[in-house]
Amino acid sequence: KKKLSSEREREETKLTLGSSCLQNRTKLKTMSLMFASPVVTPTVGSFTFSSRRRSNYIVMSAVRSNSTSLCPVLTKFQKDCATPTPYLREVANAIANDMRAGLAVDGGGDLEMILTYVDALPSGNEEGLFYALDLGGTNFRVRSVQLGGREERVVATESEQISIPHKLMVGTSEELFGFIATKLASFVAKEKPGRFRLEQGKKREIGFTFSFPVKQTSIDSGTLIKWTKGFNVSGMEGKNVVACLNEAMEARGLDMRVSALVNDGVGTLAGARYWDEDVMVGVILGTGTNACYVEQKHAIPKLQSKSSSGITIINTEWGGFSKILPWTIFDREMDEKSLNPGEHLYEKMISGMYLGEIVRRVLLQMCETTDLFGQFVPVKLSTPFALRTEHLCKIQEDNTDDLQIVGSVLYDNLELEATNLEARRRVVELCDTVVKRGGRLAGAGVVALLEKIEEDTKRMSSGKRTVVAMDGALYEKYPQYREYMQDVLVELLGHKLASYVAIKHTKDVSGLGAALLAATNSIY
Ligand code: ADP
Ligand code: MG
Repeated sequence: KKKLSSEREREETKLTLGSSCLQNRTKLKTMSLMFASPVVTPTVGSFTFSSRRRSNYIVMSAVRSNSTSLCPVLTKFQKDCATPTPYLREVANAIANDMRAGLAVDGGGDLEMILTYVDALPSGNEEGLFYALDLGGTNFRVRSVQLGGREERVVATESEQISIPHKLMVGTSEELFGFIATKLASFVAKEKPGRFRLEQGKKREIGFTFSFPVKQTSIDSGTLIKWTKGFNVSGMEGKNVVACLNEAMEARGLDMRVSALVNDGVGTLAGARYWDEDVMVGVILGTGTNACYVEQKHAIPKLQSKSSSGITIINTEWGGFSKILPWTIFDREMDEKSLNPGEHLYEKMISGMYLGEIVRRVLLQMCETTDLFGQFVPVKLSTPFALRTEHLCKIQEDNTDDLQIVGSVLYDNLELEATNLEARRRVVELCDTVVKRGGRLAGAGVVALLEKIEEDTKRMSSGKRTVVAMDGALYEKYPQYREYMQDVLVELLGHKLASYVAIKHTKDVSGLGAALLAATNSIY
């Protein structure tokens, strides 16, 4: 118990005081900075599409400004990206409206509001041996968890990460699931009988985290809606994902059973809830983004079941939100070149896959229209995704007087020569603009979820602590992003309600969560 409460203090961010940040701020996790009220600049232009056209790139010197301090591209971009509090209030309201529309009827709003069939969350009493299988990116992970009940909790756990050969990501479903089943079989074969014990008469049960859009049909079945993240496996459309895995396991004589099919947001929520019963929301901020939360069944008109009492987890698929966002010409051009044009615009503004690319696109135009970066436009600067979100983070971390690190990040990744300090300062400002917009918009989404929960439960106004579990490297590793996001919670919820909210970084608990949901939904 002691360990738990100290862990809680270490990981948690309390929101009693907010703060606005530029760069290089304190890395203390519990912040006690002054609450700076946001500068509310009336920005009519920020909601409309920028009409600026990129043209005449090659005719450079002639159109360049000869004053290095003047950079109209950046100035306009900053104005278009502004997210003053009243505007974020509108964004939060619009997300909440789409949540309600999606709860009323499938396809009612931008957010899919998928029913997960997770109607019971881990209680802490779970016992026995369970497994988690996580497929959602370039790696898949297997984990075994020996649960010892309320007192002993996680008695033993073992995990293994296996990278998926690219050819399997674009091959057939038999090949992909055959590979997974084979690796799973060898993982189980290595199990030490002293540490892990399967009770007699039980099969090994799996919580399967499958982080692609799925139309869930029960807790242990669902059909793939579409592949994302570079996967394109044939023979899967409309097929039950669990059946594919079961067939592969059977073919290899592996006697295991999938008892829960979940996504990583649900896994994060469940895993975090195991340690802390005030967890109500799970958010992923990594390559992509998603959020899941605990909803009251009576607030879900589209739920068919007669007994509309109790709770269930809703997978919002909030990345799909695409209304009233501060879209700039750069966002529009990136979207046009993406695999899913016109879709997931919120995800494209707030998640790790895209922030670096937006900066690159603005930089390219800054380079083409000013003298800040010399006379040439390097080829690398024109290469999509040459600048990654990790690089923005490095740029904003630069503490040196002459911003040396900024210079080397630009040169190493884009072959861009930012020889004068003014140019490097502008790049820092640009990164901050994109990260600020992303973090603040993500904050508005979290507020929409918290207010939806508040509407049905009144838990915060009655003084009940409410925890948002966060996972993903963007949240974990980008302090400025994190702080911008947290500021918005205080701005929109107000100090009083925000003081009951805690944001908790819960790294890699989704595997534990999936195993726990296999336990909760065990057929034995
Ligand atoms: P996934 O979402 O695929 O499970 P992660 O949670 O590991 O993956 O997040 C990966 C993403 O996080 C990367 O795409 C990148 O955008 C971002 N990221 C990784 N490292 C950093 C970092 N040091 N600073 C900022 N962002 C990072
Ligand atoms: Mg992840």
